[in-house]
Amino acid sequence: MPRIPPAPYQVATRGTSREINSRIVLNLVRAHQPISRADLARKMGVRRSAITLIVNDLLKRRAVFEGATGQTVRGRKPTFLYIDSRRRAVIAADIRASDTFLMLSDLLGKPLTGVVTFQTSPDPKQLVKTLAARIKALIAECPGIDACEGIGVVVPGMVEHSTMKILHAPTLGWRNVSLREPLAAATGLPVQVENSGRACALAQLWALRGDAPLPGDLVFVSVSDGVGVGVIIHGEVLRGRHNIAGEFGHVPLSLDGPRCACGANGCWEAYVSNRATLARYFGRAATAGPERASQRHFTVEDLIVRARAGDAKAIAAVETTGRYLGLGLASVINALDPSRVYIGGEITSAWDLIEGSVRSALSERALTSAAARTEIRPVAASEYPRLQGAAALVAAPAFAASIVA
Ligand SMILES: [Zn+2]
Repeated sequence: MPRIPPAPYQVATRGTSREINSRIVLNLVRAHQPISRADLARKMGVRRSAITLIVNDLLKRRAVFEGATGQTVRGRKPTFLYIDSRRRAVIAADIRASDTFLMLSDLLGKPLTGVVTFQTSPDPKQLVKTLAARIKALIAECPGIDACEGIGVVVPGMVEHSTMKILHAPTLGWRNVSLREPLAAATGLPVQVENSGRACALAQLWALRGDAPLPGDLVFVSVSDGVGVGVIIHGEVLRGRHNIAGEFGHVPLSLDGPRCACGANGCWEAYVSNRATLARYFGRAATAGPERASQRHFTVEDLIVRARAGDAKAIAAVETTGRYLGLGLASVINALDPSRVYIGGEITSAWDLIEGSVRSALSERALTSAAARTEIRPVAASEYPRLQGAAALVAAPAFAASIVA
């Protein structure tokens, strides 16, 4: 994964290659648009003439376009630059064990279509077939699109970065599954595959706009059928030697706890996933492996509605999930000490009901009181953080600049 340069942006030097300079300019336009050439030159610490050359090249490549003219008190009015995301689309796919979500967005992650949902086939061949057909239908629905830059796919499992092969997806029961080649062959589009938690973390960096400072090291915890965790340290996605770094979902809270989809007992995921929360409410064991449609008539959202209506059992079920969420977060915070933790998933719509339980469990186990106060930021399911993550897989590499020495 290319590195997104930490703010403030590295200053280009004479030795900096033109390609890197043009990526830095693109990134600045993305973060600050609309922006004038003079402001770009100021932010990069280079002469106007150098910026003009790069911008002319980007205009020719249709990476940026000139928009409205700015207002100044006197003198020449500057023309503002924008990223040219018009008519250029990205396909975002979020594969979960239960359902797959699909959306078309522009290069900046703005949705161009509604979200399409269908049941995930546990057979990868069948899933690729369905996915390709749905993607073609979605593109056909958007006649205004000139170019589709590619497909970003997030999956609930560990992904080998170099090949994008899915090494292990416990909730789907997959090992060594490749979606990239067959999906590219079926659609004729380039495909990027990444672990959902990592893609979500990347998308949070990607979404920073203006002069917002980088939050520092950050963690994204995505709670759905399972638990995916993405970690960003020093502006870079943490992968580890075997592509499993950050798999806190399978760190045990208790050795004799409930059975997890990975085959072990007592993993964090087995306590806080949507399945675990529902199982707690219904007083049954959480199902391992792909969920059947017949079991899906009642969701965590339904449970939260009941909790808000005063159903004591529903309140207890979501609060208990909050407590386990906090206990697991303590492990994450004690291990990584990040500046900020994002939480995504349906359970965040009950944040006002569970925040107290999350915080008190975190306080019990965090190693210092300052660590217990680590910022936790819920990301609403309505923002589709996993689809934003999938879109960023395709869009971010086009903008991300290498760190300039
Ligand atoms: Zn597990």
